[in-house]
Amino acid sequence: MIYDLHSHSNHSDGLLSPADVVQRAKDNGVDVLALTDHDTLSGLAEAQAAADQLGLKLIPGVEISVSWGKRVFHVVGLKIDAENKQLCDGLQELTKQRHSRAQKIAERLEKCGIENALTAAKDLAGEGNVTRTHFARAILAAGKAKSEADAFGKYLAQGKKAYVKTQWAGLDEAVNWIKAAGGVAVLAHPARYKMSQTVMREFLGDFVRAGGAGLEILNGGLSADMIRQNIRLAERFGLQGSAGSDFHNPAFPWTDLGRLPAMPREITPIWHSWTE
Ligand code: AMP
Ligand code: MN
Ligand code: MN
Ligand code: MN
Repeated sequence: MIYDLHSHSNHSDGLLSPADVVQRAKDNGVDVLALTDHDTLSGLAEAQAAADQLGLKLIPGVEISVSWGKRVFHVVGLKIDAENKQLCDGLQELTKQRHSRAQKIAERLEKCGIENALTAAKDLAGEGNVTRTHFARAILAAGKAKSEADAFGKYLAQGKKAYVKTQWAGLDEAVNWIKAAGGVAVLAHPARYKMSQTVMREFLGDFVRAGGAGLEILNGGLSADMIRQNIRLAERFGLQGSAGSDFHNPAFPWTDLGRLPAMPREITPIWHSWTE
């Protein structure tokens, strides 16, 4: 069975529609897929309809932006009830934060000589949540960066000119919403955060106390060393293992759907008790 429990559609910063994400997952041999858009559930109905048609198991998911001290972490909720009011209300607040942040990002980009970035980013986002990735694509289209990653490096990453500090969900809050919606909370891409292992361990202590259940052992593009590091963290904190490509864009083959190695034997997969 191939599990891929972290992916994005154009309801946040993925390029494909939810139905096209599901189709690509199917084509790539994925059996169980979670769609986990940033701070929104709005793509799940379309993904579910496509999954039903193609005979693929869809796990309703979300990737929640969390503020912990001055740092930002991403917590994935899996097997959530997309109708749950507490979760929906919480995510709606985050969408509002995204709108007001987008305005501020655009003002700062304007000072860097990049005009009309708000309109451009909103056009790219359509009905979906506005993310920094949309700004990166707008900057790229304006010829002010060589790639999305370059746009982050020049303007959008933490510490750069157009970075805007934002108050996201609290850690307890995010985990509580996920649990209220019947889901399990998983720390996304542990290797992606720029911090010492000491700070990471402090965070994971809080995550476990809040009710967090899992950690992504496997992501697209991880080295063997990074996977070993993730295994050590999961073992130390008694967390189950998840696996997700973090697929956004078919042009990035290292994060394509369903291309992850097998879950290491010493780790209990987060799906071990999933019966249907
Ligand atoms: P946001 O949640 O709007 O702050 O945007 C975060 C998203 O930006 C992440 O989920 C990634 O998809 C993308 N991202 C963050 N940092 C980088 C980077 N250095 N290069 C490319 N994409 C990035
Ligand atoms: Mn993203
Ligand atoms: Mn993330
Ligand atoms: Mn993601």
